[in-house]
Amino acid sequence: MNLPVTSLDSWQQLLSHTIDDPAELIRLLDLPETLVAPARKAAKGFPLRVPMPYLRRIEKGNPDDPLLKQVLPLVAETQKVTGFVADPLSEAQYNPHQGIVHKYKGRVLLIMTGACAINCRYCFRRHFPYDENRLGPEQWQTMLNYLRADSSIEEVILSGGDPLAVSDNRLQRLVNDLSTISHLKRLRIHSRLPVVIPERVTPELLGILGKNRLQTTLVLHVNHGNEIDDTVGRALNALRDAHITLLNQAVLLRGINDSVHALKHLNESLFDWGVLPYYLFVLDPVDGAAHFDIPDAEAQNLVAQLQAQLPGYLVPKLAREIPDRPSKTVLPTVTS
Ligand SMILES: *Cc1c(COP(=O)(O)O)cnc(C)c1O
Ligand code: SF4
Repeated sequence: MNLPVTSLDSWQQLLSHTIDDPAELIRLLDLPETLVAPARKAAKGFPLRVPMPYLRRIEKGNPDDPLLKQVLPLVAETQKVTGFVADPLSEAQYNPHQGIVHKYKGRVLLIMTGACAINCRYCFRRHFPYDENRLGPEQWQTMLNYLRADSSIEEVILSGGDPLAVSDNRLQRLVNDLSTISHLKRLRIHSRLPVVIPERVTPELLGILGKNRLQTTLVLHVNHGNEIDDTVGRALNALRDAHITLLNQAVLLRGINDSVHALKHLNESLFDWGVLPYYLFVLDPVDGAAHFDIPDAEAQNLVAQLQAQLPGYLVPKLAREIPDRPSKTVLPTVTS
């Protein structure tokens, strides 16, 4: 069975025609049919969603593929584990208005949309109340007023969901509006889209992000080196040519990137295309993701070993988010 050819499709088509039926995923990837029933069960809690460009990077017939494991629903997700909860970051209390999370000094996170191009099984937002938290037309003015009124805010972070899932018109309007707020210096976008659907990086997008007053950074989310193929690489090159700083944040995941070899491959592959590692997060204790968890001591040991093998700038900061702290918490990684 050949995968459908979609290279000529627009990003909007690729975004709306994702694989969301477990039976189809399993058939397209030549995987055992016994995986279908458990996947259907687990997908009831958080749907399956895989875009075609990402699917094509998954090795057929390999149930242990590190990209497959990020998207395939498993029965383990339905098991309750003590300490793994729906809102591990207690973000609700830092929500001054709909669509705004203001937790850290100088930086405000805007929730542009609840939509994502891909559903990552470990995601800490799998239970987030997006419907109550989208920037609709009424919330837009409130958001701008909030940013204008607080001159300590120097950076706006577009988040989601995936902020690049919104239309170019909407992005252009936001960037224009933000550019008029004189105390804003930086714009940051947290997105997985340029990696999972590299077709999203269009000349229009490059124009919006590359040609504005704000210093613009794109923080990608890549967990495994196999996620970066040449098409992704070309999209990353185009972003760099548009003077956008490229960083990556990853999540340390059991069975996916929990080895020195995998982490080395990830960070070297990123830098091959000019992306610097930023954070490596330990898993947030979200309900349904406990099977991906790695104990801190093991995580610290992995990163210490990575440090002993790579230049400092290719080693991400091992970090976690602890509610009520003024920043992310960096875990010590001492090489003995
Ligand atoms: C992670 C996060 C940020 C950004 O933190 P940095 O350490 O600057 O990357 C900002 N706001 C919120 C709510 C966050 O969760
Ligand atoms: S918010 Fe990011 S990690 Fe979560 S499902 Fe969407 S793309 Fe994946």
